[in-house]
Amino acid sequence: MTETSGTTRDELDLFWDEACLDHDPGVGLWEHAAVPPWLDVPEAHPESSARLRTFRAALTRGPLADRLRWHAGRPATIPELLAVHEADYLRRLREAADGPAPTALEPNTVVGPGSWPAALSAAGCAIEAARSAVLRGRPAYALVRPPGHHAQPNQADGYCLLNNPALAARTALDLGLTRVAVLDWDVHHGNGTQEIFYRVPDVLTVSLHMRHGAWGPSHPQRGTPDEIGAGAGAGHNVNVELSLGAGDTAYLLAFDRLVEPLLREFQPDALVCASGFDGSAFDPNGRHNVTPAGYRGLGLRVRRLADELAGGRLVLTQEGGYLRGYAALCLHALVEGLLGERVGLVDDPLSYLPDDDETNPERTARDLGAVRAALADHWPVLREG
Ligand SMILES: [Zn+2]
Repeated sequence: MTETSGTTRDELDLFWDEACLDHDPGVGLWEHAAVPPWLDVPEAHPESSARLRTFRAALTRGPLADRLRWHAGRPATIPELLAVHEADYLRRLREAADGPAPTALEPNTVVGPGSWPAALSAAGCAIEAARSAVLRGRPAYALVRPPGHHAQPNQADGYCLLNNPALAARTALDLGLTRVAVLDWDVHHGNGTQEIFYRVPDVLTVSLHMRHGAWGPSHPQRGTPDEIGAGAGAGHNVNVELSLGAGDTAYLLAFDRLVEPLLREFQPDALVCASGFDGSAFDPNGRHNVTPAGYRGLGLRVRRLADELAGGRLVLTQEGGYLRGYAALCLHALVEGLLGERVGLVDDPLSYLPDDDETNPERTARDLGAVRAALADHWPVLREG
């Protein structure tokens, strides 16, 4: 908090490293060898450096610019990465990236020169953002790529190489905190984070996502409510599958009726958010209908809860979001919420979609009911209401 003209104004710490721009993921899904060459103009890969530059520009040129403090990130070290990844995987990843030609770790996740330094810098920014949030007691955002939440201990997946949100959570624990919650609102299941903490009771992982199921050898997890964790971690993995078409109302209902009560019962010392914008109404990779108003609502909520439950220790890592202009608008709206702005500061030039929950209010109630049924034995709060 800083004093400006006699009023108190919130500010946000952001962590950034130019090396994140150097990862080239190749061409898009349409250019796979298996797809007939019918595109006259090739599609770029959705997870491009252009999207991260656009995100940064929205923040540095928009109305929040003077409330953002930018910090230089740094590459993560191998010992730091070993907290969530296997040594053999790190070795294979580096060899693939350093090879003479771009290498596909799975069909959509390609690495080449620049990918290893970019992945290290994204991970290092997430670690530094976590340190900042924990030590300063205020929110910090790692604006990075490649994204992280699909990366598993021994497996790249879905454009993700190193699991940045898991590294942020692990950093918070290493700094002496005892309970960390990870909330993932990327439109895809946070399967990598789930896998890393599946048997760990100190980390509550909650993923809000569209119902998409498993998608191949790199992504065997289904993201269904019955994947609740195992062993000592049973009950500490929460998958909230939302129906296709879910919009602002569904996401905020899921937060208010399920996420907030769970977090209150878990009492985290820090909250890590895997922050994707591919749930937006216009994303090419998602089938949900969230608008900037919905992301602003999420920002307001996570800030309020982190302040109330976790001493302000809130760290966010950038995940997906692929219609880059609209995703940048959604990022701006989220940051508005994080900084307590209840009314949008930038007009949304596109949003006109009806919110399906207004005409079908039982649908999200049904989706949330499935999560309650899966976890009621573990969380008294889920037996009520
Ligand atoms: Zn995604």
